[in-house]
Amino acid sequence: MRRRCKEEVVVIGGGLAGASAACMLADAGRSVLVIERDAAARDKVCGEFLSIEAQTYLVHLGVDLDALGASRISRLRLVRDRKLIEVGLPFVGRGLSRRVLDEALLQQAEGRGARIIRGQAARSISADRTQIAIDMGQDGSMAADSVFLATGKHDVRGVKRASLGSTNDLIGFKLQYRLAKRERQALDGAVEVALFRGGYAGLQMVEREIANLCLVVSRQRFEQVGKSWDSLLSSILDECPHLSGRLQSAVPLLKRPLSIFQIPYGFLHRPVPDEPQGLFRLGDQMGVIPSFTGEGMSIALHSGCLAASIFLEHGPAASIFHHRIGSDIRRSIRLASVLNHAVRHAAGQGAVFHLSRIWPAAMRHVTSLTRVQEASMNRVLFAS
Ligand SMILES: Cc1cc2nc3c(=O)[nH]c(=O)nc-3n(C[C@H](O)[C@H](O)[C@H](O)COP(=O)(O)OP(=O)(O)OC[C@H]3O[C@@H](n4cnc5c(N)ncnc54)[C@H](O)[C@@H]3O)c2cc1C
Repeated sequence: MRRRCKEEVVVIGGGLAGASAACMLADAGRSVLVIERDAAARDKVCGEFLSIEAQTYLVHLGVDLDALGASRISRLRLVRDRKLIEVGLPFVGRGLSRRVLDEALLQQAEGRGARIIRGQAARSISADRTQIAIDMGQDGSMAADSVFLATGKHDVRGVKRASLGSTNDLIGFKLQYRLAKRERQALDGAVEVALFRGGYAGLQMVEREIANLCLVVSRQRFEQVGKSWDSLLSSILDECPHLSGRLQSAVPLLKRPLSIFQIPYGFLHRPVPDEPQGLFRLGDQMGVIPSFTGEGMSIALHSGCLAASIFLEHGPAASIFHHRIGSDIRRSIRLASVLNHAVRHAAGQGAVFHLSRIWPAAMRHVTSLTRVQEASMNRVLFAS
């Protein structure tokens, strides 16, 4: 088995959290190695809605959303049964597929001097007081002073997350389509969220006139329709004529949707006293916000940049980082979990729909509380 020499910082996972940390560390002239399991860019289960906070970080990190062709989204349409309400968003959101976005950010990291290993995965991690050992199976092993663990929802042996307190009976699906021209024009500029029994679906345009459909549904409903995507989609379309109209004559761009099971919405890592100080948990390894609010990517980017800035200031001080990121995202995750619970159940869906109709400003205010707050971001953006 090959063993490489000891690294200063190894980032495991080259998604948004890992790549943003790598950008900032490399910018500061630090030696950083990123290990990314996927050999090439790929699609991910995601609604692909970029909030203003996510956009702010991406611009800061040098990603040009216009050049990548990201769509612009200024309105939210909430759809339930045959009813629809439209509200203006408090900012212009963007839509960009993760295949394009994650690759662009990883290239930014590489351009700044981070070394990237693709197509290899960390199999297990063990730590003692002086170093952290990473086992990559047949690809060898390595040691590092610090590890930024950014593997998203995938756990690594030896440092698995405790998923206590999270809801994990939801399944996520994502499929991209080429819509009929009339439907594409009608969707342009909006994100449409359809509420249905046991879940909700988001539809919006991303780059190159592609529409992204992403939905979460309870395991129970998926089982009721015989655990088949085709029957799930047709039962949802029966319930949501609006969505059914949008997808009429649409051409799916993949044969099967991508899926993710047991999404641990509501998870927040609770640091334990004997955790190694060199082990930083970023993105979904730190906390998983329900997707209804479209804030997961900004949390991933905030955590990556915050971890890097704390490392640059204090060295391997993961406890400082975990404490600070915990207080930055705890309220957002709790509130989003309450909203997520509501929009999964008929009574809650009715209440959210009614409130959005009679008092859109109140809904805007509630959702603004689920976002990474400006003061937290400023501490990172102005420290660098
Ligand atoms: C259904 C759904 C819809 C969503 N919609 C939105 C939305 O519209 N807007 C939004 O802002 N957020 C959304 N999110 C949340 C968002 O997708 C995540 O919060 C975000 O991707 C987390 O980023 P990350 O970098 O932590 O993880 P990831 O993006 O998952 O990246 C992790 C990376 O680590 C790599 N990796 C995994 N294991 C290993 C290993 N052992 N070794 C090496 N590499 C490894 C993976 O290949 C991957 O590239 C949604 C989530 C779900 C489930």
